[in-house]
Amino acid sequence: MLVDSHCHLNYPGLAEDLPQVLDRAAAAGVSHMLCICSRIGEFDAIRAIAEAHDHIYCSVGVHPHDSGKEDPVALDQLLARASHPKVIGIGETGLDFYYDNSPRDIQEANFRVHIEAARQTGLPLIVHSRDADAKTIEILTIEAKKGPFPGLIHCFTGGTDLARAALDMGFYISFSGIITFKNAQDLRDIAESVPLDRLLVETDAPFLAPVPERGKRNEPAFVTHTAAKLAEIKGETPEDMARISADNFFTAFAKAKIPAGATATAR
Ligand SMILES: [Zn+2]
Ligand SMILES: [Zn+2]
Repeated sequence: MLVDSHCHLNYPGLAEDLPQVLDRAAAAGVSHMLCICSRIGEFDAIRAIAEAHDHIYCSVGVHPHDSGKEDPVALDQLLARASHPKVIGIGETGLDFYYDNSPRDIQEANFRVHIEAARQTGLPLIVHSRDADAKTIEILTIEAKKGPFPGLIHCFTGGTDLARAALDMGFYISFSGIITFKNAQDLRDIAESVPLDRLLVETDAPFLAPVPERGKRNEPAFVTHTAAKLAEIKGETPEDMARISADNFFTAFAKAKIPAGATATAR
């Protein structure tokens, strides 16, 4: 059992040959996937993918890149969609001060609306944070004082302060193919320090293909390379790391139900 906790199956590069992408994922042992929403306008397409496949779940949210491209997200828009049985997380949301594709004040306002949705639904907040460690910590800390909410930092690329703050809040930390990159020793050091029961793995496909597929279009089957690297870092076997991270996924995303007759015994 192995779960890709973050992919964009509706994006160009994956959407055109989705049946083949899913076949290769199954052949690689990827049992479940979480297809992430980045705009309210794409939610229907994502929900349709999740509805069509027992082993695919979805989220609802507005990516910081896209926060300036749609009207500011309203709490009701998130809550209404979050009630769907296949919607198991809120996001992705957060702050991206590397690309700054949307004004920072809009990114921050949207982030806070997502946090409120996570608080009200109890669904994990899927946080994207790039070159924004300090502001991410500040917002999460202030918001946590108003009432708790579950969550994770996806595609973790931050520093030790962000990792510590996230872990202190009870968050999970999800690592992508970046941990396989030669120049990512700092990130591997952080991964080593994260407790086993807080680790998730993801592809963020179609982006960020791990070594040895680096440079190619990424797809969920390649999460095996990231899980294997994480196993090496943590001193686990690849099989154990796959199982542990899958267990963590179903603990974090408690609304996700393993379809009857799938691999329930492995849970
Ligand atoms: Zn992201
Ligand atoms: Zn993403």
